[in-house]
Amino acid sequence: MRYLILSDIHSNWEALEAVLADAAGGFDETLCCGDLVGYGGDPNRVVEWARAAVRVVVRGNHDKACAGLEDLDWFNPIARAAAEWTASVLTPENLDYLRSLPKGPAPLDGFQILHGSPLDEDEYLLTPAAAAMQAPYLDREISFFGHTHYQGGFFCHRNGVRRIPQVRPGESRAVLSLEHNAAYLINPGSAGQPRDGDPRAAYVIYDSGDRTVEYRRVVYDIAGAQAKIRAAWLPELLAERLEVGN
Ligand code: ZN
Repeated sequence: MRYLILSDIHSNWEALEAVLADAAGGFDETLCCGDLVGYGGDPNRVVEWARAAVRVVVRGNHDKACAGLEDLDWFNPIARAAAEWTASVLTPENLDYLRSLPKGPAPLDGFQILHGSPLDEDEYLLTPAAAAMQAPYLDREISFFGHTHYQGGFFCHRNGVRRIPQVRPGESRAVLSLEHNAAYLINPGSAGQPRDGDPRAAYVIYDSGDRTVEYRRVVYDIAGAQAKIRAAWLPELLAERLEVGN
């Protein structure tokens, strides 16, 4: 089985469209590690795609915020402005869908997906030390997570925890062969708002049959996504950061 796994799409339809075109024909099912909405200018289109095409989406903190399940006082002013705008434009059906999203981890066929960390859906797993603390709590050897907007993740072995690098600039893919007797925390990266210095949309294809994870990056119409953010009068920083991937 080949899974297209995305995270942190953040209402960026142009990025999602490029990912779907790039991955076309190469996967059987789609999964999402959360944050369908927030920040970007096209929330309804992204949620409608998720409702029609994604088997499981675990909720992200922005999904909760836009659906009224989270106190916006915890958000910075920019994230808050985007969440309030998103809530105001989402259709009632799409708001209901966001409210119904399960909290991760969501168990799947021998692996799991989650937004932040296995213990806390809102925790940022940014360092090997943070990943090492989670390793004892992993009840699946392969976990896909998001939230940090950094492609890569962590390889957890009895000898220690190593960072898995993102796809190199100038290359569009990197294949990881999964070993036995290890645990993996895999971050597909953010499709719609990368922060790892590479502005290209990020995602992975997980092949459970041959036990590989292919990390990918794809260029997309950043100007188109920026135009929607500006047309919605969202904070300018949200448009600018897409260009630098930060
Ligand atoms: Zn996010």
